Amino acid sequence: METLPFHIPLQTGRESLYISDVIARGQFAGDGHYTRIVETRLQEVTGAHRVLLTNSCTSALEICAIVLGLGPGDEVIMPAWTFPSTAFAFMARGAIPVFADIEPENFGLSVEACEQAITPQTKAIVVVHYGGGSAAIEPLMELARQRGLYVVEDAAQSLLASRNGRHLGTFGDLGTVSFHATKNIHCGEGGALLVNHPELEKFAETVRNKGTNRRDYLEGQVSHYSWQYPSTSAMASEISAAFLAAQLDFVEEVTEARRSIWTRYDKALSDIIGDAGFLSLHPDATTRVNGHSFPLVLPNSDMRKHCKDFLSRRGITTAEHYQPLHHSSMAIKLASTRLPVTDHVASGLLRLPLWPSLTNEACERVILDVRDAIRTLMT
Ligand SMILES: *Cc1c(COP(=O)(O)O)cnc(C)c1O
Repeated sequence: METLPFHIPLQTGRESLYISDVIARGQFAGDGHYTRIVETRLQEVTGAHRVLLTNSCTSALEICAIVLGLGPGDEVIMPAWTFPSTAFAFMARGAIPVFADIEPENFGLSVEACEQAITPQTKAIVVVHYGGGSAAIEPLMELARQRGLYVVEDAAQSLLASRNGRHLGTFGDLGTVSFHATKNIHCGEGGALLVNHPELEKFAETVRNKGTNRRDYLEGQVSHYSWQYPSTSAMASEISAAFLAAQLDFVEEVTEARRSIWTRYDKALSDIIGDAGFLSLHPDATTRVNGHSFPLVLPNSDMRKHCKDFLSRRGITTAEHYQPLHHSSMAIKLASTRLPVTDHVASGLLRLPLWPSLTNEACERVILDVRDAIRTLMT
């Protein structure tokens, strides 16, 4: 019996061609030929005012903290149901992450919990879109606008996911995506910053240029470039950009293939979900998912373990995550918070195998075995 991995990093077959071209061109540092191709393409697919390629989603989040001027004493509301970068990118500037609970339908920030977490020190909300679905971004935006707060969308997993036809990551002041090897398309390590406000573009670009006005220099506006702001190292190399360009050539097909597998899982397991603590993503009619991940939440951690072990004996690899940030040894030092939905999701969640070339037969096999595993739980 063939073992099904949980994820296979995408290779389109065109990567080595473009990387050979980088070697022939001889420019290896960022902001060259392939960076421009990738940024233009990402602007087309996302509709963002400006896209800046970065070496990770983490560094794009760090740029957000700097561009929005977040610093010591400023509170930033975010879910604990996320990867650590979401929090430490802001902590690196002295801001304080404040964790609020998530909604059981989309595993994104709860509008109500977010509103309750606002204090006079609150400066920003970081909305994380989980699994290729969407948080309740419109009401969250409305809340932020009423209270004068910035919004950053951590859309690390959301390329080609949208809400009411608008790409995720383009609702907030700034958005970020990831091109880490675990995401739908990738370049090993990589990311991008989506700049949605024309006024923020120049500052964001200066920060990405390691705090210098190198852009002005390249455009001949100044005779040499100089240091303007504290910054970080966020530029992606041309090698990464070329690899990503090869993946972007196929992004629509790859996303469509993932979506169709996601929909197959969703339809086949819909009778289980919603009952007795079983959850999954429930995108509403306005959300277009990108099939990043199919999370099945079991009612508790013992049942998850049973399921995971059962599936593993049948050669099916599943993945757990995250340890919610408020339970991490790092964040335990921050204010303690009760986040019941986050805890429920974190203790029961299993992600099913999903990659674009997963065959229908393999997908059906996973579905049957998941149903078997759940049946044995119930007897
Ligand atoms: C993957 C991921 C990140 C980190 O992305 P990198 O590109 O590895 O820095 C941050 N936030 C979320 C929600 C993620 O899924």
